Amino acid sequence: MTNTNAKMGTKAVWAGEKDYLVHGATQVPVVLSVAYGYDDMDEWYDVAIGKKKGHIYGRNTNPTVQAFEDKVKTLEGAEAATSFSTGMAAISNTLSTFLVPGDRIVSIKDTYGGTNKIFTEFLPRQEIEVALCETGNHDQIEREVEKGCKILYLETPTNPTVKITDIERMAKAGKAAGALVVVDNTFATPMNQNPLSLGADLVIHSATKFLGGHADALGGVVCGSHELVEKIYHFREINGATMDPMAAYLILRGMKTLHLRVRQQCANAIALATYLQTKDIVEAVYYPGLETHPNHDVAKKQMKNFGGMLSFAVKGGVDTVRDLLPKLQYANRAANLGAVETTVGPARTTSHVECTPEERAAMGIPEGLIRISCGIEEIEDIIADFEQAFNHIESILKVK
Ligand SMILES: *Cc1c(COP(=O)(O)O)cnc(C)c1O
Repeated sequence: MTNTNAKMGTKAVWAGEKDYLVHGATQVPVVLSVAYGYDDMDEWYDVAIGKKKGHIYGRNTNPTVQAFEDKVKTLEGAEAATSFSTGMAAISNTLSTFLVPGDRIVSIKDTYGGTNKIFTEFLPRQEIEVALCETGNHDQIEREVEKGCKILYLETPTNPTVKITDIERMAKAGKAAGALVVVDNTFATPMNQNPLSLGADLVIHSATKFLGGHADALGGVVCGSHELVEKIYHFREINGATMDPMAAYLILRGMKTLHLRVRQQCANAIALATYLQTKDIVEAVYYPGLETHPNHDVAKKQMKNFGGMLSFAVKGGVDTVRDLLPKLQYANRAANLGAVETTVGPARTTSHVECTPEERAAMGIPEGLIRISCGIEEIEDIIADFEQAFNHIESILKVK
């Protein structure tokens, strides 16, 4: 294990590695074996009942996957972590571990699209009551939590308008009501925000995004106390949404550069947000690092830096988006986020594709909203790229 006093960047490199090295190798091996053999029947039994450390079958545990779990739990300052095939599996398994018919959950309207579908489509049909509050309306969340709930589920910053919720304040309200406080920390990453230290009980990541960082492996993880994580692990080992060892290896490798990537992504995000604010064609810029952000103070209090995600709205709506985005040379036009490449997409095609234009408008998402996940490129090139794309739009507008 890594010295717990080490700085985050050192932990990102070293944590969760040493315990899994074999043959003198300096890198964690990818163990693809599905099953583990025992000649000693008593030892096999002891491992099977959890009395002795070891592995039995790949749906339950795997050494490469455990190395990944150890690295994440160290970065989140958690006692324990358990992993999943995807971020959505982490979320749905965590909710299913604790919620039973008749329970109530409180959350916000701006959670990730898939999470919102769980709240609006799947939980109600299991007779679980869902109360979704206006994101960032702390008074309303507190009122709903006071009425009683099993789980208070938060995500901050949110997709795509990067709204901020005060984790410490909400965790207090949750605790007072006897609720489990769960936070999706995907956008912030453990480098910028550690919800457990702010009073949350469980923290979830889509490891597919910033943790992996290279858009080449799917995964999810939840961190918290031994007691809670053990329950979630039990649900997952039976229900089977296990992380693949190859994905675990790729994400583990990606995480060694997490601090460097995130540092560059944050620097690019504030520079790009500041630049976008100067353009006439840009109606609004959303980034928690801007002083114009409605909850900038809360972000400043609970985040070390403001993250690599931002969004902006252009004049001319969908027509401008259609002309602008294909002109960008250094951006993938894709649904993913958190990768080393800058990635752009309209909310109407990515995070809020399931909604009608009217529903998006009601959620405060203009049709001309573009989400940017900043990559690690040199910012001068990214700004020049946007500049030439904006110039192209201006020349079209002149012709029209
Ligand atoms: C992508 C994402 C998820 C879902 O993760 P998958 O790995 O795609 O299943 C959950 N929450 C947030 C905030 C995300 O961005």
